[in-house]
Amino acid sequence: MELQAFVARRVVTPEGIRPAAILVDGERIKAVVAPDQISDRYKVHDFGDAAILPGLVDSHVHINDPGRAEWEGFETATRAAAAGGYTMLVDMPLNCLPATTTVAALHAKRAAAHGKCRVDWAAWGGVVHDNEAEIGALAAAGVPGFKCFLVNPGIDGFTMVTEQQLRSALPHVARTGLPLLVHAELPGPIDRATETLANADWSRYSTYLQSRPDEAELAAIRLMLELCREYGFRLHIVHLSTSQALPELCAARAEGLSVSVETCPHYLHLGAESIADGATLRKCAPPVRSRENCEKLWQGLRDGTIDMVVTDHSPCPPTMKGLAEGNFRTAWGGIASLSVALPMIWTEASRRGFTLLDLARWMAAGPAQLAGCGTHKGHIAAGYDADFVVFDPEGEFIVTEDKLYYRHPVSPYLGETLRGVVKTTYLRGNPAFVAGEFPGEPGGREYIADSRRQSTL
Ligand SMILES: [Zn+2]
Repeated sequence: MELQAFVARRVVTPEGIRPAAILVDGERIKAVVAPDQISDRYKVHDFGDAAILPGLVDSHVHINDPGRAEWEGFETATRAAAAGGYTMLVDMPLNCLPATTTVAALHAKRAAAHGKCRVDWAAWGGVVHDNEAEIGALAAAGVPGFKCFLVNPGIDGFTMVTEQQLRSALPHVARTGLPLLVHAELPGPIDRATETLANADWSRYSTYLQSRPDEAELAAIRLMLELCREYGFRLHIVHLSTSQALPELCAARAEGLSVSVETCPHYLHLGAESIADGATLRKCAPPVRSRENCEKLWQGLRDGTIDMVVTDHSPCPPTMKGLAEGNFRTAWGGIASLSVALPMIWTEASRRGFTLLDLARWMAAGPAQLAGCGTHKGHIAAGYDADFVVFDPEGEFIVTEDKLYYRHPVSPYLGETLRGVVKTTYLRGNPAFVAGEFPGEPGGREYIADSRRQSTL
């Protein structure tokens, strides 16, 4: 087994940021020591003044494979991930066909991923209106948890669940001990708001924003907290957009409920006030809200009510963004950001006084824990996978199409100057991305949750 030492002045470890050498034996970290304690058996990679962070984990990605690989696919999603400093993705169970709501569909996904991945991956299972009998089997087959929608997801192949349907699924979910990730918007407030907007101008962002009010998220979160209390499952709120829910989420946690919360780069970077009419590249659900709301989400990260930042990377063919029409009602909702999320969050976080330790917690350790790989990924510490990102925190770059690396280089962020440059990404001791190149064969594999460990697929 090859012995390697990765050295830098700023190594982001759970104990703090310090000059260190990460000693790696094969695919695992053996020890983290002072830079002058490397024996001569090690091949040394010295990154000088750069920072080394744990490889990022993105627990919210739509890879769309199999079935809609023309939207993205394992090859391009994992390439963009490696370029963005990620070493592990967890795929959402919808947008692919078949949706990951049965064990057979999970096997189809494994076949689609085989040999194509540049980073490690896992797949969430879906909870839909009619698959409660599959929940236990999906858990046994290796999914790290489940995802459901309380509102129509707007795509064929995956159904929302009503409260009643959820009530029959929840005992099965609770028995697995795995988290349930919830798209928390209720249809009632959305339908009522949309009815009043029948004759509104849908090229205006304000129309779209009014159609998905804070109340839809708030009501859904209240319902989920109630069900969490009743059924005792692990609740995770995906892509929190409304800051109005923060006090109730904070109180629920103080009460001892098992609830975790994520938000996404677009909610932390964009503000509704500056979204131009017709700018459908910025459409997502729930929507980007006001600038004031954005600052309150940052406050939620600061006080720990929001645990993590994940991308909700949700690409589509460019035509579906309806740029020519600029109609917020018909354009596809979803923003792709895998390759730029780290510098984008660093740009915003560093000017608010946060450090790389905060980023490592939000973008590596937090999502790893949610996805059941927290004992192997998300930290630079002995025993963990040798997954790192070498990052220049002072560097700057302009977002251009050639730096996106996912299938369709469509992005609302083109032309922006971001702070922080991903230099190299290592996956289990091997380079997965080096200064714009992807060396060697794809080395990513499925990470099977819990005791089942990494399969060889
Ligand atoms: Zn999503």
